[in-house]
Order: sequence, then structure tokens, then C-alpha cells
Amino acid sequence: MSPEEFRRAGHAAIDWIASYLESIESRRVLSDVSPGAIRQRMPAEPPPRSEPFEAWMADLERVVMPGLTHWQSPNFFAYFPANASEPSILGELISAGLGVQGMLWATSPACTEVETHVLDWLVGMLGLPDAFRSTGAGGGVLQDTASSSILCALLAARERATGFRSNAEGLAACTQRLVAYTSTQTHSSLAKAMRIAGLGEAALRLVDVDENHAMRPEALEVRISADRQAGLTPFFVCATIGTTSSNAIDPVEAIGELARRYGMWLHVDAAMSGTAALCPEFRWINRGVELADSYCFNPHKWMFTNFDCDVLWVRDRSALINTLTVLPEYLKNKATESGAVFDYRDWHIPLGRRFRALKLWFVIRHYGIEGLQALIRHHVALAELFESLVRADDRFEVVAPRPLNLICFRLRGDDVANERLLERINASGRAYLSHTKLNGRFVLRMSIGQTKVQERHVRAAWQLIRECV
Ligand code: PLP
Repeated sequence: MSPEEFRRAGHAAIDWIASYLESIESRRVLSDVSPGAIRQRMPAEPPPRSEPFEAWMADLERVVMPGLTHWQSPNFFAYFPANASEPSILGELISAGLGVQGMLWATSPACTEVETHVLDWLVGMLGLPDAFRSTGAGGGVLQDTASSSILCALLAARERATGFRSNAEGLAACTQRLVAYTSTQTHSSLAKAMRIAGLGEAALRLVDVDENHAMRPEALEVRISADRQAGLTPFFVCATIGTTSSNAIDPVEAIGELARRYGMWLHVDAAMSGTAALCPEFRWINRGVELADSYCFNPHKWMFTNFDCDVLWVRDRSALINTLTVLPEYLKNKATESGAVFDYRDWHIPLGRRFRALKLWFVIRHYGIEGLQALIRHHVALAELFESLVRADDRFEVVAPRPLNLICFRLRGDDVANERLLERINASGRAYLSHTKLNGRFVLRMSIGQTKVQERHVRAAWQLIRECV
């Protein structure tokens, strides 16, 4: 493409995105295509010769759009959001335009330093412990997802527990038989990380929860004692601030005290709810976080930053770096040798890394702290409104506490009635909700965190739900 062609196509692409976002409400939220329908619209063979931009865009409408679920729709209330925003889209675009690969400080110093600086800002913005700042022994790093963060934390914990021997010699050479703990409500990414780390899912203990679906520290201690008596080594515990099913907040302080007492690494997964701490009145969710060895949250869920973007902070970066660093000859350079720089390739699984911090920086600069706080407060207020609407209708019940912006509710009746209700809501295309099971019962989840969601969308969703009963 010539610069002129690129400029013309680029302007058209931005226009297209702006129109898409402007009209997104009029689209059915959940795609209703059948499996294979999208591939059928594509030619069997790739084009032998160049095709023009206009042809790609025509196929974007014809082939792709029918097969999309519109995550940026203000009528999207399923799972947790993956909310985006215009400044973030621009950051993503410019990062693609720059095309830098920031594996080492030396391969693009700004890529590393903007990231370090923005993540230090965020420590203050969220009221997190100063120990996470890069100016001391800690620091933050951007990862793709919370799943990668938990894997990195688990690997560092494994290394610390085995005197940094298991990387070099393999787990079999280590005398310790390691066990990890989390609640029955923790995200499945920890089970996956146990598999990948070679520890095995059987070594993950799922601790009971209380009536609010939060981990019971007494139950944790009972399991730790039993494992120690059996000659096993407790080495890792994960507490969640905002569980996936019901947004439960684990008692991090009590869990952290047990982690300290028994020499375990405490990882805190605040993937969804961590963003709420932008507002001082919601910072209670982070009580006890000063005891954490690592902490992660996803700006790509609730902080208006396009997928993917997860922040991992550690209190002792040397444990993470010693776990993940491998330095071949071809990556050696003077800046690394000086010890004066961060090479973020040593802080996560991949070698290569893109300039993710740019979009986060743009988001923070566009909204400012106050703008971000206002949106979070707005979402929580909408959730409060929705909860009050559900509570005012005798046919429904709210089945879990609502600390922030997720409402778990159901029709008073059997699971079949609730499953049918959800099917009808989603088939309408006017809103999209998802479900979970709590105490063995089918529950609907209304998750309110879309960038552009307004009261009218929440009221319309409630109206739809009532129509679908
Ligand atoms: N942790 C929690 C509490 C989550 O809710 C989720 C996803 O919803 C994850 C971790 C995994 O997130 P990611 O897709 O960033 O790996």
C-alpha cells in the first residue's frame, strides 16, 4: 500500500468503526448463526491476486458481521464485560502502526518505560500497597490475561518453594510435594495453571465457602494442617476479589495471615472487580492486599481498555524474574548488563511483546481519575437499581449479595423454568445475559459494566426479562 492508499483506507476504517459504535444498539446482541455458517460464506481458496480494500470491507459486512456477538453493545450483560473505549481503540491502532516489539528495554525503551510508569500510577490510583511500585523491590507488568498472570505467579511460587531448583532440575528432583489452595468458586484458570506448571490438578485443594460464596479461612487452615501432617508442602493460595460466578469477595486479610504463617505465596485475583478500587468508597474490597505476593486485575474487563490487557503486580520482582529469565547470547546487550533497566520478557511467558501500555495510558489521560470514578459509580448505581427492580417483583429472588455490579437472580421455580427464561431473553436479540450455578441451582447473571450503558438499557432489559417469563 502506498502512504496515500493507506491514509484513504485508514480514514475509511475509522469512519467504519465510529459508525459501528454509533449504531451498535440497533444490532441483535447475540449472534444467531449456525455452526459453519461463516465459513460457508468464504471462498474455498485464498485470493491469487490482490483485492482492493473496498472488497475486504464489503465482506466484513457480508461475512463477519452476522457472526458477531456485540460485546460493546450497551445491551450486553453476560459474563463479565470486555469493555472498550475510543481512546483505547486509538492506542491499540497506534501501537499497531508503530509495530514495535518491546521484549527488551533496548528494543524500544519507551515501550518499557511508559508501561512501568503507568503501572506505578495505577498503584496509587487503586490505593494498592506501595510494595507493588517499581521504585522498590516490586513492580507491575502487563500480561495478556489474568490466566497468564496466575500461571506466572504460580511458577514463581513453585520456584521459591523449591529453592529455585525445580526450573533447572525438574520437579521430580525436589523433595517437596507441593499443594495449592483456593476456594470452590475460584476461576478455572488456576486449575489450568496447575496442569501447565506440572503440579497436577490433584494438588489443588478447593476450600469450602460461606453463605456468601467467599472462602472460609477456618476451612483453609484445616486443609493446610491435614496436608502438613501428611508430609506435603503448602506453597500457594489464591484469593479472589470478585469471583466469576457471583462476585464474592474472599477475606484476603485472614487468608493472607495464613499464607504468612505457613510460608505460602498469596496471589490475589481481582480480574473483574479490581477496577472498583478507583473509587475510595469501594476500596474495602482490597482489605488485606498488603499481605499479597502478587495481585492482578483486568483493565480489559471493566476499565475501558480493549482486550487484551491484564496487570500483574508482584511485591518481589526478583522471584518472578529468576523464575522466567533465560538469557541466550543473541539477546545480550549493554542495557541489560547494566542492571539499570527492566526487560519485561523476563516477567511473563512469551519473549515478544507489543506496546500494550499505550492504550492504557490513553484511557487514563482521556477520562482522568475522576472520569473513571464517575463511570464505575454509575455502573454500581445501575446495578443497585436493577437489584431493586428484581426485589420488587415477587416472582423473582436475588440469590447472592451484590457487592458491586453483578446481580445473581432467578425465578422462584425450578431450573427448567430459569433455563427457558434465559433462552427466551437471549433469543430476542435485545439483551444478552449469562448464567451460573450457585448451591446447585441455575441462576441468571446480570453484569453491568458496559462503557455506554445507561439507565434506559437496564430498564429495557428488566422489561424484556418480565416479558419472557
Ligand atoms: N479471574 C476471574 C475472577 C475471572 O472472572 C476471569 C474471567 O472472567 C479470569 C480470572 C480469567 O480472565 P482472562 O480471560 O483474563 O484470563
